[in-house]
Amino acid sequence: MPELKVLFATSEIAPLIKTGGLADVSGALPAALCKLGVDARVLVPGYTPVLAQLSQHNVVATFDSLPGFPPARLLMGDMESDVPLLVLDCPELYQRAGGPYQDTSGHDWPDNARRFALLSRVAAILASGDSPLPWKADILHCNDWQTGLAPAYLNLWHSGTPSVMTIHNMAFQGVFPPHLLNELHLPPSSFGIDGVEYYGNLSFLKAGLYYADHITTVSPNYANEIQHERLGFGMQGLLAQRRDDLTGILNGIDTDEWNPASDGYLAKTYSATRMAGKAANKQALQQRMGLSVEPDRPLLGVISRFTYQKGLDLLLEIAPRLVELPVQLVMLGSGEPGMQDAARALAARYPGRIAAHVGFSEELSHLIEAGADMFVMPSRFEPCGLNQFYSQRYGTPPIVHATGGLADSVIDCTPETLKDGSASGFVFSGMTADNLHTTILRAVELYRDQKQWKALRKNCMDKDFSWQRSAEAYLEIYRKVLER
Ligand code: ADP
Repeated sequence: MPELKVLFATSEIAPLIKTGGLADVSGALPAALCKLGVDARVLVPGYTPVLAQLSQHNVVATFDSLPGFPPARLLMGDMESDVPLLVLDCPELYQRAGGPYQDTSGHDWPDNARRFALLSRVAAILASGDSPLPWKADILHCNDWQTGLAPAYLNLWHSGTPSVMTIHNMAFQGVFPPHLLNELHLPPSSFGIDGVEYYGNLSFLKAGLYYADHITTVSPNYANEIQHERLGFGMQGLLAQRRDDLTGILNGIDTDEWNPASDGYLAKTYSATRMAGKAANKQALQQRMGLSVEPDRPLLGVISRFTYQKGLDLLLEIAPRLVELPVQLVMLGSGEPGMQDAARALAARYPGRIAAHVGFSEELSHLIEAGADMFVMPSRFEPCGLNQFYSQRYGTPPIVHATGGLADSVIDCTPETLKDGSASGFVFSGMTADNLHTTILRAVELYRDQKQWKALRKNCMDKDFSWQRSAEAYLEIYRKVLER
């Protein structure tokens, strides 16, 4: 059978440009698919940092006359993983100081509709008979709203190439005023409930969910949750209607990048059979963050966007009670200014006990995974989540709210699950500060019994979170879609 050609269209990819979990998935899944014999290529916008990191490249296509869009070029480069990378170079739309979606002061770029319509359009062209490359995708795999128009274009052009749309987070939908329809080359007939329309506006995500041949999301539990009002963000009706075309596939992690046995960011490496190094990381983390160096005091770690979704408000609320337990708390993240200020204020009020680093730091995030004793992730909703995987791999049992992928990937510690070796963290239902507090208390109590704690840590570290398993599930979906 000839190699299956898959174009993976994404708005971010690690390590080149990252704001969240989508980047990690884009960096790892295509590489895992290649290992299974798929000819996968990744398409990403040529943001300034992406171009700066592209050491060698060829211009493989030009798009000079796409009506309504500035001239653009397609550059081909290689990533570390050897997956061919197609970079959509359009300086007017992508080369600017700031993030992929927002300017330096955190405001959405005013031309986001146009920026990501171009990405979607080029993705669709590369999967259609009009591809300017000698290579044409058999399947177009789109991710989140930024590429949501691509399945619509493919469908409206009657290209015959199937598409898969993956939802990484329903909360971001790419909703724009309806007058853009014409500018984005969508026919008036597409503006309806059976099309791109969403409560009178134009939604890129809705377009993807309506027109894609198959929808996936990043955990089985989240696939179920989004079919209901609480987490469907208004799309629950459409998703429930398409439930036979909706599959939840749990993300994997990059087990080379996140490997305590070889992680260059750590003070000392360690593994399930050589755990001594973990204590050295705890000490290094305590020293670096100005916490008192106390090997036996439980240290809670947090790495998160500081937003309501992540439930950080609850953790900040109970932090003074946690100090009394006593535990230490280290937080890394950025986001809502109020939460950033609250985190800083707690660190100032409890020196040596609570530390906060407001910002993004890959290096510190690795040290926290290794140096903390427990990892706290009280998300209100979490499509999949990555840090609960990393923390299990680093022998740092996670404390999580039973939602989305957290519920699918962490097994609550009970006498039974400890005995049968499945326990891998602490899970609470009911999103209240008291429930979070009680669950942290439960973890701290187990920590005092170091024999049991070590057994729990070992369970965590023995789990397999590699991408291979997920990549096989995606391949199965591609095959199913092609057979149709
Ligand atoms: P989301 O994509 O919703 O932000 P995920 O848990 O799926 O959440 O993925 C977040 C990713 O971003 C993880 O790899 C996490 O370690 C990383 N991350 C989040 N905030 C920071 C930060 N401030 N510094 C370093 N890494 C961070």
